[in-house]
Amino acid sequence: MESLPIFMRIKGARCVVIGGGEVATRKVSMLLKAEAAVEVIAPELCDALNAQVLANEIQFRQALFEPTQLTGAVLVIAATDHEDVNTAVSNAAKAQNIPVNVVDSPALCTFTMPSIVDRSPVVIAISSNGAAPVLARLIRGKLETMIPASYGRLAYLSRDFRDAVKAKFADTQSRRIFWEKTFQGPIAELMFSGQERAANIALADAIKAEDSKAQHGEVYLVGGGPGDPDLLTFRALRLMQQCDVCVYDKLVSKEVMELVRRDAELINVGKARDQHTLPQEEINLLLVALAKEGKRVLRLKGGDPFIFGRGGEEIETLMENGVPFQVVPGITAANGVSSYAGIPLTHRDYAQSCVFTTGHLKSKDGQSHTVELDWPALARPNQTVVIYMGLIGLEQICIQLIKHGLDATTPAAIVQQGTTPKQKVVVGDLSDLAAKAALAELKPPCLIIVGHVVKLREKLAWFEPRLD
Ligand code: SAH
Repeated sequence: MESLPIFMRIKGARCVVIGGGEVATRKVSMLLKAEAAVEVIAPELCDALNAQVLANEIQFRQALFEPTQLTGAVLVIAATDHEDVNTAVSNAAKAQNIPVNVVDSPALCTFTMPSIVDRSPVVIAISSNGAAPVLARLIRGKLETMIPASYGRLAYLSRDFRDAVKAKFADTQSRRIFWEKTFQGPIAELMFSGQERAANIALADAIKAEDSKAQHGEVYLVGGGPGDPDLLTFRALRLMQQCDVCVYDKLVSKEVMELVRRDAELINVGKARDQHTLPQEEINLLLVALAKEGKRVLRLKGGDPFIFGRGGEEIETLMENGVPFQVVPGITAANGVSSYAGIPLTHRDYAQSCVFTTGHLKSKDGQSHTVELDWPALARPNQTVVIYMGLIGLEQICIQLIKHGLDATTPAAIVQQGTTPKQKVVVGDLSDLAAKAALAELKPPCLIIVGHVVKLREKLAWFEPRLD
């Protein structure tokens, strides 16, 4: 983050605006919304500001800028047409440690003014840190249409009932669950449709009716997809945003993790290969223990939980222990990664079936590695084979497929971190893919795709991740 977003209380505090034109007027009106004591300093004022002076809404000092005018101000805005004056204001404010904003000159600012969506007391601020103000405004437009105007009223309603809810529910967790239900259910709908009295009565009734004992926990077994957060399902996102604790492993992308509720406790159970990874049995029991504490546990996995994800084992333990759960499918690597690599997994001319398999190595003597798979079944014509966890065994896999009947010239690809900005695709055939992959220094996670469909990438590649 280039700057820290904060909301500053300036009610009654002296805020100085240098400049008396139209731009200054806009800034003054924003400061007045936050009930600041505004002083405008300028040689002359535009009509709008003059009217505000006459109405006693702002103070006016008719003068050229002097650094001493800033003494005692909590913030300063420079809105003149003169670059030298704006620079002088910026320097003077910085020398006195007063936050300063200079309109349209990011380099002179110590703070910027965001685009805002005002649903007071709820206020959403959007900033692109000067990189793309138009984009920030477009985002604001979207939010304006998505968030009903009455959200502010809903916030005031909840303020009025805060104490009653606190008295009813001793622990913060049950309070939060109660409020989440309220804000997403019929009481909120009543507010949105303007029936505030009915909403008040319904909320009072709901508090009375609610069981004040701690809520029962639950586990959400959620597929986080292959990396690109846009590939999450709506349900995944909703549950990610209401969990109390998130148990995740290394495959879940940073961008997806960003969407987990900020306040949720994060437990990483799958660090890098050679570091500590919690054994599966312990993960199963951890989920049970957390749910039994009454928590809403998000078990977040890369791809789909039921495809090489051991999700089945986890819910088996949950069932045995009577813990309620939901399963949310995710886009598995085979789907997401092949799409983003421009390789359709089936094609009328090249492949009528597609097999997903693991290429995970089994070490027999601690040194040599073999991959024990049903090779004859994999080495069939007109079939695409997608191999998960195959980076280390790649050379073995190619050798075995050739040995069991596939032509050495069968096209094959290996994709690193598919669907993410770090996606790398290496294409070859069964005879040279391993060497090419070694040369490209690919890192996990990598997915291998074998079959004539790989050729289609020449025409269909569409996703070009960024270059840095
Ligand atoms: N449940 C997951 C798979 C877990 S096994 C799913 O449905 O996708 C881990 C393997 O998945 C990795 O070794 C790799 O082969 C594959 N994988 C997952 N995400 C990937 C990605 N973004 N790019 C390439 N391979 C990926």
